[in-house]
Amino acid sequence: MREKAGQNCILICWLCLLLCLCPLVSEAAVWDGDWYYREGSSVLRDGEEEPDEWKTFTYPGRPPLPASAHAVVLSKMLLPQDQQVNTLLFSTSGQSLRIWLGNHVIYSYGAFSQNELVKGTHWHMVQLPVISEPTPLNFELHSDSSSQLGYIDGLLLDTEMGAMKRLYLYDLTFMWSFPVAILFLLVMGIYYHFAPPERKRLYRNVLAFLLVFAIWLLCSSKINLMLWDQPVFWWSLMSVTAYLLPLSANFVLYEILRKEKYAHMEWVICANFCLFVLAIGGEVAGHHMLTGMMDAFYLVLGLGQGIAVCWLVEAAYSGNELARAALVPTVGFTVLGLIDGVSGHFRLVQWYTFVTPLGIYPFAYLISAMMRLQLLQEHSLERRAADLEYKAALAMEKSERDALTGCYNRHYLQAYLRDKAIKEPFSVLLLDIDHFKRVNDACGHDRGDQILKGFTEVLKRELDKDKHLVRAGGEEFLLLCPGLDMRMACLLGEVLRQAVASRKIAGLSITCSIGAACWHGEGDSTEAMFKRADQALYAAKNSGRNKLVAESAEYTSYTR
Ligand code: GH3
Ligand code: MG
Ligand code: MG
Repeated sequence: MREKAGQNCILICWLCLLLCLCPLVSEAAVWDGDWYYREGSSVLRDGEEEPDEWKTFTYPGRPPLPASAHAVVLSKMLLPQDQQVNTLLFSTSGQSLRIWLGNHVIYSYGAFSQNELVKGTHWHMVQLPVISEPTPLNFELHSDSSSQLGYIDGLLLDTEMGAMKRLYLYDLTFMWSFPVAILFLLVMGIYYHFAPPERKRLYRNVLAFLLVFAIWLLCSSKINLMLWDQPVFWWSLMSVTAYLLPLSANFVLYEILRKEKYAHMEWVICANFCLFVLAIGGEVAGHHMLTGMMDAFYLVLGLGQGIAVCWLVEAAYSGNELARAALVPTVGFTVLGLIDGVSGHFRLVQWYTFVTPLGIYPFAYLISAMMRLQLLQEHSLERRAADLEYKAALAMEKSERDALTGCYNRHYLQAYLRDKAIKEPFSVLLLDIDHFKRVNDACGHDRGDQILKGFTEVLKRELDKDKHLVRAGGEEFLLLCPGLDMRMACLLGEVLRQAVASRKIAGLSITCSIGAACWHGEGDSTEAMFKRADQALYAAKNSGRNKLVAESAEYTSYTR
């Protein structure tokens, strides 16, 4: 119950985070409306303009450019503005950029020769000089990727502080998610270390996914440029890990659905893998396939994960707990990934940050379920082990006890003598019921059994736990007395003899004879000691019964 509540809490927190992002979502670009563009890199200066050459397009879209285009100029008339609001904030992907204000280049980013054009997304903050009259603001863009040329994303005019704040806000999802991903990596690493063999593969796949996800987060965020200003490196790594994300996630689902006959995650994995190989191969061959395959990437993402969700639902209904837990992050990641595709790749809506990073929060649902199941499994194993131990102890006890009287039997005696070194002082008392054959003959065997039982109960009542009463055979009992010398053993034997003689056992008065012997130290043997006890018992019987006789006559005086 408590775990379920914890998992629901995670979901609620996640929804709250999404709500916090709403202000970002609802933000609109401030420079919507008519823009001018011209293919090529020639930026006309004031007064030289030939109106025919410029065509209009509507921002935030991009102008229609032929696939062969490598340069374009986007132009917007800038009106005299409040000096405070003078900072441009926007991002470009895979494009070199020069900004002209009138005749002057006020900002430049990247190289402009064909082979050195930049890759990767870059955010730009550009301070505009104060102008006194309307002046054209021209963005000269160069790219060797026709799918990226001409896009300026998230263009805003703000104060410098405002722009900084927005830049920080755009990175918020990464800041929220990166430490969580690292934390999960650590937790899963520990769980992997202690996981039972049958779970190792699942945990290893989860670890691989988390690692890919953490690298992707680092590459997609803008803070990476503060660490190392190499946009091409970050962009390449981000693109590669973007292809690896669904691939590694589907390996996790493969493990979860491994036993479900209808589920064929290997098909989805195969599609992801082909896409990955094509994209990497195409990129290496110089065809910009990492970006070029993105249409196919989102198609496979939607279809593949859609099918996986169906299999997960079916498995969840048939009682696969992990499948139930995996549904939440699978749906979460897929929906968020598609939202990013719709905004970042297809540019159908204006959205300034990736929301996929937030997928790590529903992933917590799966991680907590995995931990819960492992704990339950460990508990049940512990319980089973304790149960077995108890049963083994019970069986052992049974094998060492006599069924009729509950006294120890000869097995126990042998084990005792094998396991325990006999140290002085140590004595034994051999007890035998007098004329028991007659009791049996007169009262029957069953009554005889009752008397045997009653006899041992009387003895046990007088004994403490250190003394071991062994049924040596028939109605003969051996009492082991570790720690008692001959004198003490005789006193104890006398107490026992009197106790038996003074009580009615199963309605009959019976007596017993006792032979006592003690350990003589080095050179003595248990066989010899038992023999001496037997001889003493024989002497007791011969001298009239209902007596205790010690192996050496001096101790017999302790008896009455
Ligand atoms: P004494 O020892 O005084 O010399 O005479 P006794 O009649 O007791 O002689 P002995 O010890 O030789 O006899 C043992 C008898 O105990 C033989 C057997 O019938 C009886 N006996 C042995 N085991 C059991 C048992 O489990 N139940 C019953 N009812 N009798 C048993
Ligand atoms: Mg007897
Ligand atoms: Mg006997």
